[in-house]
Amino acid sequence: MTVALPHNSSQAPASNFLRQIIAEDLRTNKYGGRVVTRFPPEPNGYLHIGHAKSICLNFGLAAENRGVCHLRFDDTNPVKEDLEYEEAIKAAVHWLGFDWGPHLYHASDYFDRLYQFARHFIKAGLAYVESSTPDEMRRLRGTLTEPGYPSPYRDRSVEDNLDLFRRMKEGEFPDGAHVLRLKIDLASPNINMRDPAIYRIRHISHHRTGDKWCVYPLYDYTHCISDAIERITHSICTLEFQDHRPLYDWVIERLAEAGLLQRPLPQQYEFARLNLTYTVMSKRKLLRIVDEDYVDGWDDPRMPTLAGLRRRGYTPESIRLFAERIGVSKSDSWIDMSVLEDCLRDILNESAERRIAVLDPIKLIIDNYPEGRIEECLAPNHPQKPELGRRALNFSKELWIERDDFEEQPPKGFFRLSPGAEVRLRYAFVVRCAGVDKDDVGNVVAVHCTYDEATRSGTPGAETRKVKGNIHWLSVPHARRSEVRLYDRLFLAPQPGRAAGAVLARSTMTAGVDDDVPFDEPADRNFLDDLNPQGKRTVIAYVEPALAESASETRYQFERHGYFVSDMRDSRPGAPVFNRAVTLRDSWGKNPAR
Ligand code: ATP
Ligand code: MG
Repeated sequence: MTVALPHNSSQAPASNFLRQIIAEDLRTNKYGGRVVTRFPPEPNGYLHIGHAKSICLNFGLAAENRGVCHLRFDDTNPVKEDLEYEEAIKAAVHWLGFDWGPHLYHASDYFDRLYQFARHFIKAGLAYVESSTPDEMRRLRGTLTEPGYPSPYRDRSVEDNLDLFRRMKEGEFPDGAHVLRLKIDLASPNINMRDPAIYRIRHISHHRTGDKWCVYPLYDYTHCISDAIERITHSICTLEFQDHRPLYDWVIERLAEAGLLQRPLPQQYEFARLNLTYTVMSKRKLLRIVDEDYVDGWDDPRMPTLAGLRRRGYTPESIRLFAERIGVSKSDSWIDMSVLEDCLRDILNESAERRIAVLDPIKLIIDNYPEGRIEECLAPNHPQKPELGRRALNFSKELWIERDDFEEQPPKGFFRLSPGAEVRLRYAFVVRCAGVDKDDVGNVVAVHCTYDEATRSGTPGAETRKVKGNIHWLSVPHARRSEVRLYDRLFLAPQPGRAAGAVLARSTMTAGVDDDVPFDEPADRNFLDDLNPQGKRTVIAYVEPALAESASETRYQFERHGYFVSDMRDSRPGAPVFNRAVTLRDSWGKNPAR
């Protein structure tokens, strides 16, 4: 299979505890030299930057060690799953630069074996059909400080259990009437070990197995067995599964003892999930943001989804660089959004060509420039890469400049245009401000200048003329109009919905009868109250003529503004739309008016 390398950094990747474990396992030949990891998404939503961390980790560790990484859809929960999500997930993994080759699997591929294994557990006296109500089960399960109690059904005979389980499968009982539980240890301090449920009744079609099943296996049972069937070596998951590890080991160990699974068995390792400031990653919250129209869909450039980040202008390299920079650890922490943004800046600073755009135009008239004259000024496509060449910009008597490059009453330290002041028009001439035109209510509508022909950039001596300001411009008759969407962070608060400084706490006691308790950020208030109302501003800007014909998804640096991408959905040659990916420098919180 082909496996893309996880990063294109020239530095050797920093070690981490997972790299060390794998190196040690290779040294001791624990798995006969094999390294097999997997990425196991549930096809019930779009991938986000947190998943990208897991993808880069799993595919990256495999690639570094000439191993393989499987893509396995965890499709045990038929109500929520969708083929469309599967396709979107596959596309996102490919986009990130990774490939599972022939190793595409579904947990549902194993439904027959999972069922047979469950029968094995019943026959071994290690599983029973529970007929208490969910409330009763919860009550009997005990608490962190008290042990659980056996239900009246715990000592059913093997024959009764086999018969009931078969009839559950055959659809004789309604949803919720029974569950199959492992018989492990009701007194265990780990609630996950207190006879966890492993099968439940669901009269529902599955997108792959259709109506074949009325019972579906639960995550904890399915996941470890799927790993073992696929002969995964290192099963890497997030920290909230730490307390599930004893159950993971218990299930596959029993099956291996019975000769039903092959050794060596996979080993689970936990790492800290990504928490990123100024965004949310819980599927439930992302769904609300989309459903309640706070953004324009799953691929809105403000969203932390991979589809959104891509539309925002993020490249796969920038996301792989981010995954490498943040590393992996065993304790929870928050990564600041600026770390992600800096990765994009670092990549695009290298690769994006420079262009001119005037986002908030005001006219500059050069009084002493001949009417009708047009001359070409050469601008480098990349200041550090002369090999990328230069392009011609037309210069004429009337130009567009940025409104905030002119101040009638300049504050101290303002070095751009103001009455009497001189600036350089980038790649062109030095001009001196001669006055302004105002409308009836006193707003400046145009700025007048005179230019000095001897200061033309590129002519000998011209650059020695000392001026402090250096502003960009576009020729009025040549500039093209473009929609530009100025995106910013999705939330104003670093931890949306949470009081500043609150400590990250998480319950890990979610397994057992309550399967599918999703991970969620704890909240102090409605996270939607923290949305950034300025997260998207649309302006009609002027751009260089060639930009108007940009191919979809081309990334540029607009000089002095930041990095932009032609929108892959809405931009058309002749009718361009650009999205701001990120500003040139991290100015979050420093310039509220931007
Ligand atoms: P849920 O379980 O609520 O449906 P999920 O985000 O865990 O949501 P999965 O599809 O189960 O979604 O995730 C697939 C893989 O991605 C899992 O192995 C999970 O541990 C990993 N993952 C999910 N979120 C993050 C995150 N924020 N950081 C790192 N890994 C993550
Ligand atoms: Mg999950």
